Amino acid sequence: MVGCFCGELSNHVTLIIRKSAIHSFGCYTTKRIRKGTLVVEYVGAPLSYEEADDLYDDFENTYLFGLDGGKRIIDGYGVAAFINHCCKPNCETDQIAGKMWIIALRDIEPGEELTYDYCLYDGDDDAPCYCGAKRCRGSLYSAAHLRKLKKKREKAAAAPAASLASVESAKAS
Ligand SMILES: [Zn+2]
Repeated sequence: MVGCFCGELSNHVTLIIRKSAIHSFGCYTTKRIRKGTLVVEYVGAPLSYEEADDLYDDFENTYLFGLDGGKRIIDGYGVAAFINHCCKPNCETDQIAGKMWIIALRDIEPGEELTYDYCLYDGDDDAPCYCGAKRCRGSLYSAAHLRKLKKKREKAAAAPAASLASVESAKAS
């Protein structure tokens, strides 16, 4: 889905989709957004975790958003699905009355790209971040998931070494 479309919202925030320096296409505001504004709802088709897993197992790029700790998934098709990740974002997400909202963390100036922290918590593949923030985590995964992945990889790296050592000791005896 390429092009430029505008979403005029109830609170008069005007968002456009255009090429992003962070990744592919991004979502930009043409008007000033005040801190705390509910900018746009993350709309999409509701899926269960299993449905989403079956549908997108082989896909590199998806627009899935996990609710209720990942039990419910939104398969995004709205403007919000274009919002890129940033480690120092200008928006956050929050679930209000069953809907997922993108909310301004600070005042956002016209022309700025909207971003929020994806904090991905599912997956083993690398999910590199190119946000360019000073304290970029280097990944779209949450800090907690990165710690989990690191442990998992250390375990995997230690396992073959251990079996090799046992082969060596078997040879020696
Ligand atoms: Zn980053």
